[in-house]
Amino acid sequence: MRFVYSPLHLRHDIRTQTVMGVQVDANEVAERAEVIREALLADGGFELVPPTEHGAEPIAAVHDPGLLRFLETAWDDAVRAANPYPFLAPETIPNRAATEGMSARYGHETARPDGRAGYWALDTSTYIVEGTYAAARAAVDVALTTADLVLGGERAAYGLCRPPGHHAARSMYGGFCYFNNAAITAEAIARETGAHVSILDLDYHHGNGTEQIFWRRGDVLYVSLHAHPDRQYPYVLGWEDETGEGDGEGANLNIPLPAGTTDEQYLAALERGLARIADEPGDVVVVSLGFDTYGKDPICDFALTTAVYHECGRRVAALGKRLVILQEGGYHVGDLGENARAWLRGAEGRD
Ligand SMILES: [Zn+2]
Repeated sequence: MRFVYSPLHLRHDIRTQTVMGVQVDANEVAERAEVIREALLADGGFELVPPTEHGAEPIAAVHDPGLLRFLETAWDDAVRAANPYPFLAPETIPNRAATEGMSARYGHETARPDGRAGYWALDTSTYIVEGTYAAARAAVDVALTTADLVLGGERAAYGLCRPPGHHAARSMYGGFCYFNNAAITAEAIARETGAHVSILDLDYHHGNGTEQIFWRRGDVLYVSLHAHPDRQYPYVLGWEDETGEGDGEGANLNIPLPAGTTDEQYLAALERGLARIADEPGDVVVVSLGFDTYGKDPICDFALTTAVYHECGRRVAALGKRLVILQEGGYHVGDLGENARAWLRGAEGRD
């Protein structure tokens, strides 16, 4: 299998994050992508391909131009405003109650960078550093190049995206995500082929951004297996009753799962998701692939094993559709490479 990788992710050099006001060691670190790259190259069955530049247009097809502008300028603005920290984080996040009862034109995007960050952010733990924008743009190019390989005839290809993307909504970044790589890619595929596209989100967390972006779309199906939002990030979305509205009614399937979810429980849920995708027209599935479902993941609570990732890859490939597989989360750095390798070998029908 060919996989797409860019060293530009290294410029998104994140060492710390904030959890409930406390600064801790970062989970979404550069090592994550490096260990996956090394494991795939050591395997011998994967070929590394550099991304090609796709420009800002596919991003603007999915995201608010204001978010794009903010992410492009935020770090330089923070430096000019003498931001004293090695990162930019929101000072405030406008609570929806702040402008309750007022027209939508109130609640301005301010000029000051830490205020602007809050205007666009979901949370306070998704830091912006000097190289964040370059890395986020490269992650989009990685994803779109992976789609090019598949539209060019490959049955499956893997994009080693970092930073991840599925928490980024049309006008919002958060959850270590800046641009929604999977959504941008699904939109580009839908435009290029004119056919329906399915997104299968197997990250531990619900992909609130992807759901929001395609909420009213009947031609892009979103199916997600994830930790129930009554106990886990992103809290705001991920319930089973979220099925889409308007043209998108019925094109959103959430399968929230309990703490301690085992290999067997997970495979049963996966079968439900795959059955829905099998019924959907269209030949391409974008997989948002996370390994924070792993039993040893430091911030999550499922109990999956490396062996089940091989079986998951095998079953997703057994759909008979073509797969654009994009990396999302997964924070047990020690076993991340092996887990990715197992999933992708399963998808290729290798032991
Ligand atoms: Zn996740």
